[in-house]
Amino acid sequence: MRRRRTATSAFLLLFLLAGALGAAEKPALVVVLSVDQMRNDYLDRFRPWFGRDGFNRFLERGARYPEARLRHAATLTCPGHTAIGTGLDPRETGIVANNWYDAGKARREYCVEDRAAQWVGAPPNAPKIPILPASPVLISGDFLGDRLKEKFPGARVVAVSLKDRAAVPMGGRKADAALWFVREFGRFVTSSFYPPRRSLLAFNDRLATFWASHKKWDLSGRIPEKDLSRVAFDPPELARYKESVPGTGDRFPHSLPGIPNVIESPFGDELVLELAKYAIHDFHLGHNPAHAPDLLFVGLSALDYYGHRFGPDSREVADGVVRLDGQLEAFFRWLDGEAGARSTLVFLTSDHGMTTIPEVARAKERARTGKDPNSAGRVDFGSTGDSAPVAQDSPDRLALEKHLAKKFGYSLDPMLPNALEGAILRFEEPIGLYLNRPVLARRRLAPERVKEAVRDWLRPRPGVRAAYTNTEVEDGLPASESLGVAIERSFRADRSPDVVVSLRPGWIFRKEPGSTHGGPSEENQRIPLLVWGSGVKPGSWNVRVSPLSIARSVAALYGFEAGARDAEVLSSVLGRDEEVRSPASRP
Ligand SMILES: [Zn+2]
Repeated sequence: MRRRRTATSAFLLLFLLAGALGAAEKPALVVVLSVDQMRNDYLDRFRPWFGRDGFNRFLERGARYPEARLRHAATLTCPGHTAIGTGLDPRETGIVANNWYDAGKARREYCVEDRAAQWVGAPPNAPKIPILPASPVLISGDFLGDRLKEKFPGARVVAVSLKDRAAVPMGGRKADAALWFVREFGRFVTSSFYPPRRSLLAFNDRLATFWASHKKWDLSGRIPEKDLSRVAFDPPELARYKESVPGTGDRFPHSLPGIPNVIESPFGDELVLELAKYAIHDFHLGHNPAHAPDLLFVGLSALDYYGHRFGPDSREVADGVVRLDGQLEAFFRWLDGEAGARSTLVFLTSDHGMTTIPEVARAKERARTGKDPNSAGRVDFGSTGDSAPVAQDSPDRLALEKHLAKKFGYSLDPMLPNALEGAILRFEEPIGLYLNRPVLARRRLAPERVKEAVRDWLRPRPGVRAAYTNTEVEDGLPASESLGVAIERSFRADRSPDVVVSLRPGWIFRKEPGSTHGGPSEENQRIPLLVWGSGVKPGSWNVRVSPLSIARSVAALYGFEAGARDAEVLSSVLGRDEEVRSPASRP
């Protein structure tokens, strides 16, 4: 009996020791980088011009998941970053889009607006600006950072980005700092929701020097001119489909006359990586006095700005991505040395991909096959505003209003304002249409019948792939609908539209030159998922995963739970081989 107790105590001691050793061996700092609008295929397209220590650090010495895709339908910045920060689908977090209409509150909401918060770090005598301070008050569910701090009370969580809808949804509710750039203020700020961190806001003192040294964006020369025309598809006759920014020129070299122009060039990410280094120093991230792990989120948003304007096939995106590679290389080398984190684990992913400019896609297809494929285009269901007459709506929207009037036998006065006359209250890109209930009530129309009529009108429209009423989504979409699961994961009844719509691959909701993302297509959903660092099992893993796996895997590594239970834990992060399944074997 006595011997057994000794053996038990010895086993217990060994177990505790192993636990302590195990904790000490875990990475001291986890860095999650999100490159806004980065597509998975950019890694292969531009790889010949990557340096040794940027993206190649992941590709050569880390784990890559080339089959990673977003698993929700609304491929937008806020849902994407919330999925990274929480490991949850929009249906759990409520972040169904960047903006939605909340019928209960009778107002349109922005995903990270906080009407109760104040600006912190705004310049003295700051002008009153039309945007609100940000916080995660509109986001439901648990964040990875919050769960980490519950497990390790001394852990620090920091998020920095150009965009509030990147820093806030990644940092979470208990972040020690969340900073984003407000162009109207010309500096990085936070809100009163977060602990004030004056020492970090002091980074703004460096900005004047940065603006002064970034007045022009010329080709970096990283891709030789002979290769550039091959890796880009950017003939001069298609230049009119790119959006030219006033004052910057429509081709290289682009001048950058104002602060927003610098931010929206590849230099915007250089600046955020500088801020990330500053934050690592400021908090001594990776040298936690409580020996707890620290977590840093970095939102690299610049590509999303110039990517929208110039498109994935442009020389600008080619130069921007290889510039980013160089910026990452400098950041990682600094992280190895000067930062001196005891050990680091780094993830790189994206909030969403990007659709090729439709006219460029068609020209490429014509060049390849000699035929016009008609497989890409633009759709516009927008109106010019609540107080504008119905007559000024986009042609498609006006056609829908006329169709509903004819079908339900009422007369439409197109000279009256939308808010008083339109059956549709608003179209929220890219998720769908909200009904104008007071107008329907006045006309004694049952909302369900109007929803069905809108759905039936949408379905045969060019570019429309799927349309459902919110009742159908709530009841569960048919198994035959290939987008069904993604649409359901993007849906929450109190915020999603009355009629949800998804476009065909290659089609976009944007009438201006340039392109956009937002729909559930391969171009928009397939994003990089890369891991590098302490304990990572390297390799290219052919498993169908999503950015939700980041929260799941970090939590599994440190011995707690975060993220959706049905999202995969990345075995490579735990130092194990992946169980490689064929992507086709998963729904
Ligand atoms: Zn975007």
